[in-house]
Amino acid sequence: MTHARPHLHHWIAGEFVAPGDAGYFDDLNPVDDSLYARAAAGTSADIERAVEMADDAFRKYRHLPAAVREDWMVKASALIERDAGAFADVLIEEIGSPIAKAGFETRFAASFLRAAAGVPRRIRGETIPSDAPGRFSMSLREPVGVVAGITPFNVPLIKGIKQSAMALATGNAFVLLPSESAPRVADMLARLWSEAGVPAGLFNVVYGDGARIGDTLTSHPKVRAITFTGSSRVGRHIAAIAARELKKYTLELGGKSPLVICADADIEKAVAAAIFSIFMYQGQVCMGASRIYVERPIFEDFSKAFAAAASRLTGGDLRDSSTMLGPIISDRQRQRVRRHVDDARDKGANVLAGGQWLGNVCEATVLAGVMPEMDVAREETFGPVTSLYPFDSMDEALRLANDTEYGLSAAIFTRDIDKALKFAREAEVGMVHINAPTLHDEPHVPFGGAKASGFGREGTEVDLDIMTEWKWVTIQTGAAGEGGH
Ligand code: NAD
Repeated sequence: MTHARPHLHHWIAGEFVAPGDAGYFDDLNPVDDSLYARAAAGTSADIERAVEMADDAFRKYRHLPAAVREDWMVKASALIERDAGAFADVLIEEIGSPIAKAGFETRFAASFLRAAAGVPRRIRGETIPSDAPGRFSMSLREPVGVVAGITPFNVPLIKGIKQSAMALATGNAFVLLPSESAPRVADMLARLWSEAGVPAGLFNVVYGDGARIGDTLTSHPKVRAITFTGSSRVGRHIAAIAARELKKYTLELGGKSPLVICADADIEKAVAAAIFSIFMYQGQVCMGASRIYVERPIFEDFSKAFAAAASRLTGGDLRDSSTMLGPIISDRQRQRVRRHVDDARDKGANVLAGGQWLGNVCEATVLAGVMPEMDVAREETFGPVTSLYPFDSMDEALRLANDTEYGLSAAIFTRDIDKALKFAREAEVGMVHINAPTLHDEPHVPFGGAKASGFGREGTEVDLDIMTEWKWVTIQTGAAGEGGH
């Protein structure tokens, strides 16, 4: 257990930098809102300095051999495994992760780094036939320069590692603006990369209020690419800046993911998958199945079994491996979860399970009779709340599943391969899982969403597109000027 209440300082050019007049902000443990750590409140000047230092480091180290960058990834992965207990402690105490989720996050981060170790040697261009006689023509992939990363509170280790590992593996420098609710994880990342051998200036962290200082980072002329994970509201704002400033960007945003359960499904397996899909980490997961569509012949049976299973979920001791429900992260988020449940109840929805709170923990809540005019029907709740809806045909299930501005993940339970594939092809989402939960990620897959759930994809293969720039290079052989335009 970690008991210290550290004061976290920015990490810029390989040094801890204390805050100026702005002082520190509080980082609270969401279990009881007690003080967990204090972090430097960054200013625009801190961001500017971090970007300048990152740009200097990029120019100094951009030509390091692939083997060196491979070595950072291998070492970082081993360090996460060595310090898995300490990372899990922080994920439990800083953001209220039940230990099962904290363990998953730690293992995924180590696994992502192992996959990223293969990236530096795969940054390849091509030789290209040329129309010009004697012209040798090729393409190179080059790092973009400084990459800005912005992470959400809910998976700060996974996202911090995904973003920074890919930037560093591809030869870039990186500046992280972590979630205000998870600065301690970012402090551990700074120490991790440093110990793994990454030279000063290639990885930097500035803490602070994203709404106040984020624009300085995303609009800085020396930031050439932005990788953002967070809400669709902030994502839209960042996309507008990136468009204006002509920067590359990827956005991993919110969701309202549908889970469709057909009458031929194995109900027991579908119930287990539905429970995991929406209640893992108390529903604070972007891929959470906050809409569950059940074919009418099994609607009653499924609803009863699912509500009963939800009622059995326990909150409380985050270090007990059977705990699925922990606290909701902040007052703002708690109000949002309460508003969605109260609004649905006031407008006539039935609460089949949950609906009550114990401190900052919201019970696993199952709603039925949800109508389109209820907030919970359309908005992302980001809490342990889901709604059950009946459907009568595959076409109706698809229409309902697609009737949302979001498009992150979707899942279907059926034994009918034709239905499953029709759903996979026609669901307007970035990811579809058949006979499996809506929640899944692997390092090398194209992870991401469509519509308001994102722009671009992340993963060790697809990230090459945002983290590198193509360059076309030609060599005229023979007499100069022969052929060509
Ligand atoms: P948020 O959008 O409130 O904050 C995310 C980050 O953006 C924070 O670090 C914040 O400081 C920063 N920020 C705020 N304004 C900014 C600005 N103007 N410029 C730059 N940065 C700014 O999101 P959150 O509450 O931390 O996280 C929850 C959201 O993230 C949910 O919507 C969830 O679905 C989404 N999410 C998506 C994925 C995915 O992979 N698609 C994964 C995890 C979370």
